[in-house]
Amino acid sequence: MDVENIVIIGSGPAGYTAAIYTARANLKPLLFEGQRLGGQPGGQLMLTTEVENFPGFPEGLMGPEMMEKFKKQAQRFETRIVSEDITSVDFSARPFKLTTGEKQILAQTVIICTGAQAMWMGIPGEQRYQGHGVSACATCDGFFFRDKEILVVGGGDSALEEALFLTRFASKVSIVHRRDQLRASKIMQERAMKNSKIVFIWNTQVQEVLGYETKMTGVRVLNNQTNEVSELKADGLFVAIGHKPNTQIFEGQIELDQKGYIVTRSGSTVTSVEGVFAGGDVADHKYRQAVTAAGTGCMAALDAERWLADQE
Ligand code: NAP
Repeated sequence: MDVENIVIIGSGPAGYTAAIYTARANLKPLLFEGQRLGGQPGGQLMLTTEVENFPGFPEGLMGPEMMEKFKKQAQRFETRIVSEDITSVDFSARPFKLTTGEKQILAQTVIICTGAQAMWMGIPGEQRYQGHGVSACATCDGFFFRDKEILVVGGGDSALEEALFLTRFASKVSIVHRRDQLRASKIMQERAMKNSKIVFIWNTQVQEVLGYETKMTGVRVLNNQTNEVSELKADGLFVAIGHKPNTQIFEGQIELDQKGYIVTRSGSTVTSVEGVFAGGDVADHKYRQAVTAAGTGCMAALDAERWLADQE
């Protein structure tokens, strides 16, 4: 059975950047773009509308179009792309064993770029209005809400950070939280409380996103203390209830932190398993940007390339 030099798992900005670099280094990477991991091939950018903060694209471009360009660039250097999920891995010995459906693949090195996904509430209308008012990323979409009224759901640091960021654009930001106490750090709480554009709506759960054709117009909420149901008008809804890394298949095979993110050695993409590298959101709960994912995808490619050279 042939042993691949490099198998890349994942097809967001990190995976494709790792592919471009390793392909140009003549390592003939094999990339699994996935079907389910991270929601879909292409990762979280497939769920955004316009991307305006990726350097080099002054006019901006749509998220899916951007991922198509990443893919084309990887294919230009003859990356082999497989539209399947890796369903299990065995990192206990080299070459590493990866399984997809019935097939097994052997690999000298593996670059994990399976990303993370925003957690959603799973309520009616939430999916339908994604990209049309509903978002899980203020840095991506906040700009489109100039002088608009926005709701943010959640009570952790992410929710307050998103809300504070959104005050740069929005006329009013209401934080809807299901309890009457925040989980966020004291300093973030103080900042949010001091901001005149932010108001809090306590003990309240969003039950449904309301809208008309392709635009959300508001939400239906339940006050869980009084059981009162009411409607709130809003142009946008930012869901900030946490992220989940796509690392289920790596459990027990590689060191993960408490939240399930892959642990990498500081300043590198080296994981707890020699020969396995990780880039993008799967190892980063802090920055979570397309450009930082591409950056760490590049680092993973260079780390893997050097590691392979050292083996020879
Ligand atoms: P988090 O701390 O887990 O908070 C999630 C929030 O969402 C909680 O308030 C939770 O409510 C609420 N929630 C969860 N499921 C919900 C649902 N289905 N419907 C409505 N509300 C729901 O997540 P996070 O804010 O993303 O933060 C993750 C980690 O990153 C934390 O350690 C945080 O400190 C860190 N972080 C730090 C910064 C910063 O320092 N600048 C920024 C962002 C994140 P309950 O409180 O009722 O459980």
